[in-house]
Amino acid sequence: MSDCLFCGIVAGEVPAEVVHVTERTIAFRDISPQAPTHVLVVPRAHFANAGELAVGDPEAMAELVTTAHAVAAAEGHEDAYRLVFNTGAGAGQTVFHTHAHVLAGRDLTWPPG
Ligand code: AMP
Ligand code: ZN
Repeated sequence: MSDCLFCGIVAGEVPAEVVHVTERTIAFRDISPQAPTHVLVVPRAHFANAGELAVGDPEAMAELVTTAHAVAAAEGHEDAYRLVFNTGAGAGQTVFHTHAHVLAGRDLTWPPG
């Protein structure tokens, strides 16, 4: 999608600090980190949210979760990280290209805000 920010990052047209790439995903640091480690993992293909990705390309969804775990491990947080998919504006989603937030490196309280 030409007007999608994360499609722009996937295409290399929008700068980002990429930390991990796989065949179907890329991972880059969040521009406004909410924890010492805050990385976004996105499918290269455009889907609006996690549910649509899971239905439309289950292999990419599995690869996205595997990538998220690899990113957490690479940052030294394999044993304690949070994986978040905000879905819908009412749940805080602001970019409508599927992305998993990988958050780690500080105490993460529950329930989330
Ligand atoms: P969400 O609110 O769940 O849709 O998450 C969108 C995330 O994208 C937020 O945490 C933003 O800080 C992050 N973000 C927005 N623009 C950029 C960008 N250009 N590069 C990296 N992260 C971004
Ligand atoms: Zn997109």
